[in-house]
Amino acid sequence: MDSLITPETVLSSVIRITEQRSRQHLEHSLVSTLRDLAGLTFCGICRPTQSVSGIFIDYVAHEGGEAPDQLIEIGQDPLLMECMATGGSKAQEMEDGALRRAQAIVDDRGIVCAFLVTISPAAKMEQLALIGGFASIYRNYLAILRDAARDTLTGLKNRKTFDENFSRIVASSRHLEVPFAGNRRGGELSGEHHWLAIIDIDHFKRVNDTYGHVFGDEVLLLLAALMRKAFRGEDLLFRFGGEEFVVMLAPTTYENAQAVFDRFRATVGEFAFPQVGHVSVSIGFVRIHSDDLPSVVIGNADKALYYAKEHGRDQVRSFERLLADGSLTDAERTDGDAELF
Ligand code: GH3
Ligand code: MG
Ligand code: MG
Repeated sequence: MDSLITPETVLSSVIRITEQRSRQHLEHSLVSTLRDLAGLTFCGICRPTQSVSGIFIDYVAHEGGEAPDQLIEIGQDPLLMECMATGGSKAQEMEDGALRRAQAIVDDRGIVCAFLVTISPAAKMEQLALIGGFASIYRNYLAILRDAARDTLTGLKNRKTFDENFSRIVASSRHLEVPFAGNRRGGELSGEHHWLAIIDIDHFKRVNDTYGHVFGDEVLLLLAALMRKAFRGEDLLFRFGGEEFVVMLAPTTYENAQAVFDRFRATVGEFAFPQVGHVSVSIGFVRIHSDDLPSVVIGNADKALYYAKEHGRDQVRSFERLLADGSLTDAERTDGDAELF
């Protein structure tokens, strides 16, 4: 494949890549642009995923040639394994004389978050410089996307990223659902599922009114820290705005979800916040079904939260349990409307 590397083509490639606003689009744009620009036979981006049984590699974008469509164990690709260990790049000549090169993309926490994998018919210096340069643009851009997805005060994910995360989680949990004959809500509380909780600080306005916004912000900051400590790495933590937080729990049973949220509620209650002292939280949670819309799930968690607020605060309420107990009014039971959106 011919390549035409001029300042103009490089610049227009950078412009094309940086027009993207999501990680997925960025990655697809990067591999196709870089492949054309540098005359590569293959350009791909893959990500490492750490699991209990090792590190697995997942190709998220590629152009030209083949990429494994399944997760592969990193040991099957020694080039990637070496880049994972060094955080750098490594090239290897293939049987047909082509050069396969992998470069680790290291984020600002020093973690390898992706690899840029290229195959070129022959190694040319200008080509290598170009690949290295684009790898750096990719790394910087990932950091910008990451910052844009975070709440500036607490560092938790922000509301803007909720729908995207929600769809990803829902797609990944489809296999957990056993076909259920009859009422969809009947099999609610058995088995392992994703759960969503809204956590809302009780009487937070009083905290601000009594101690001022600076101490109010300090409470929000420390609450986020308590969340990071209480929940696991697989759980997704969001600040939705104000004093409202959302947790998406990795698959677990109803009993566990209830226990985890109640333990968190107790942890917050016991914590002595500087100057402010003790605050409590109310929590409403709901099971996530694979065909649920995010707004419906949030709406139902909010109903459970509202119930907790109305019945004394400092408590955890499950939407399904309230439904089963007949504790919700007719209007609240129709689980199709959403109050927050
Ligand atoms: P409830 O128990 O019913 O939840 O009462 P509440 O006072 O917590 O609820 P309400 O929604 O009436 O008040 C929320 C308050 O949160 C209002 C606002 O002053 C405060 N707040 C919202 N965002 C921030 C923030 O970023 N920093 C600080 N310090 N306060 C905030
Ligand atoms: Mg509140
Ligand atoms: Mg609130």
